Parts: sequence; structure tokens; C-alpha cells
Amino acid sequence: AKRNGRNRYEYFTQEMDVQARARRSMENDLREAITENQMRLYYQPITNSEQHAIIGYEALMRWHHPSKGLIMPAEFIPLAEETGLIHSLGAWALYEACHEAKKWAGGQTVSVNLSPVQFKNSTLISLVEGALRESGLEPWRLEVEITESVLLNDTLGNIRTLQNLKALGVLIALDDFGTGYSSLSYLRSFPFDKIKIDRSFINDMSDSREALAIIRAITGMSRSLDIQITAEGVESREQFDKLKEEGCTLFQGYFFGRPQPSELRLTVL
Ligand code: C2E
Ligand code: CA
Ligand code: CA
Ligand code: CA
Repeated sequence: AKRNGRNRYEYFTQEMDVQARARRSMENDLREAITENQMRLYYQPITNSEQHAIIGYEALMRWHHPSKGLIMPAEFIPLAEETGLIHSLGAWALYEACHEAKKWAGGQTVSVNLSPVQFKNSTLISLVEGALRESGLEPWRLEVEITESVLLNDTLGNIRTLQNLKALGVLIALDDFGTGYSSLSYLRSFPFDKIKIDRSFINDMSDSREALAIIRAITGMSRSLDIQITAEGVESREQFDKLKEEGCTLFQGYFFGRPQPSELRLTVL
């Protein structure tokens, strides 16, 4: 039994070794990804209900790895956040998205995801300012998306950061709403222009009264606060119609279009 236990232990340490090595190798690759020009932004359309027009795009990161092929953000963003590489990746994304959006004839907005790690960095404001200045993009055409987690701690400091962003003239969206801990009333204290209802609620809406009740609570409150509501992950006509009826004003999801490289992005519905 003792021998067995030891073997198992050795097996586990070997396994951990393999994982640690894979992680280190990915970290090293990630370090070179920007300079080696392997990162791409894909753009997913955001539409509004009244005009049936594309009003903006969310920029979503993709890694074209030389040997592993296409790698999705879920596989590298957490590692980038742990290692601090998210600062250079995030800065690259911000500059790239602003430069790209500046070329769009339709004048649509571009939404860029900000990691909580970036949000807490004191250089964030000058970074955003720099991206706008260098690209020449009008500030109201840039939207930053942040998640609820950044609102949990250091509330005053975070409100200040949000106000500084607003002072630059950029739009602020609260992403993945409903998955975190913020209460609806809490939202009054923060200057959000938009709230994005998390995809899971849209997904569950048709067979969960609870999901529908949450969507109703969010749209109800948004009317009194003058905040626009984006429904994420809309995959069918039925969902689109229902969400319109519930008061959502902006829509994003595979029903309208998938994320694509800028030159292939959907431009008319
Ligand atoms: P997110 O910000 O919530 O982005 C929306 C995700 O939902 C995207 O996944 C998008 O491709 C996917 N999606 C859109 N419509 C549909 C739909 O109708 N059905 C389904 N099933 N999925 C849909 P993606 O591109 O894999 O990104 C995953 C997450 O990675 C993002 O979630 C965001 O949190 C993070 N991320 C992506 N790009 C960046 C970035 O540049 N910076 C940072 N910090 N995070 C990023
Ligand atoms: Ca987002
Ligand atoms: Ca989201
Ligand atoms: Ca998400």
C-alpha cells in the first residue's frame, strides 16, 4: 500500500510538472504574441431595435498561435491577468480597436473589454487618452466594458476612475450584468451608459421565470435611470422579439452576427 501511495504521489507530481511546464510555455509564447503580430481583434455587431442598424461592434481578442492555431480568450486571458501580461495585451487592444474604428465609414462605436486588473492600474486614464489621441477617434465612439467585480472593493476610487473616463468623453458599459453581486440600487452611484445583461439570462429566459423576472427588473430600473440595456447572446428571432417587448434597446448575438476580422465584419443587416 505504501508503494502504491508513493507511485500515485509520483504520478501526481509528474502530472503537475506537465501542467506547470505547459503553463510556462504558454506564458513564454504569450510574451511574444504581440511583437510577433499573432493577436487579432474580431468584431461582433451590436444592433438597435428601432433602426435595425448596426450601431457598434464589440472587439474580442483572438490569438493566432503559430503551431496551436486559433486560441480563444478563455484560454489565455486568465493567464495574462495572473502574469501581468494583460497590461500590454490590453493596451494593444485599445490602440488597435481605436485605429480600426477610425476607418469605419459608418461611424459606429467600438467596445473594448477592460480587465479588472487594467481598471485598477493608475495609468488607465492616460492609456485611453493616448489611444484616442493617436488614432484620432472621437471619444464618444469608444466604449469600455467593465465587469461588476471592479465595483466590489475600493468603491470611491473606482467611482473616481469611472468619472475620469467619463470626463474623457468615452462611454462606459457594465458587462455580464446579473452574474456578480451588485444590487440594482447600487447602480445609481455609478455613471454607466449601458448595462449588458449576461448571456445566461437570455439563454434561460424561455423556460425560467426567474431569468425573465431578472431581465424585467433590469429593464424596469434602466428606464428610470436613463441607462441603455444591451441583451447579449441573442441567438434566435424569438429571443429578439421577446427582449424588444421587455424593453431591451440594444442587441448582440449570433442571431445578428458572429465576431469577425474587421474586413469581414457584418456591415448591413
Ligand atoms: P464577453 O465580454 O462577455 O464577450 C462576449 C462573448 O460571448 C464572446 O466570447 C462572444 O464571442 C460570445 N458570444 C457573442 N454572441 C454569442 C451568442 O449568441 N451565443 C454564444 N454562445 N456566445 C456568444 P469570446 O470572444 O470567446 O470572449 C470571451 C470573454 O473573454 C469575453 O466575454 C471577455 O470577458 C474576454 N475577452 C475577450 N476579448 C477580450 C479583451 O480584449 N480584453 C479582455 N480583458 N477580455 C477579453
Ligand atoms: Ca464584453
Ligand atoms: Ca459579456
Ligand atoms: Ca462574459
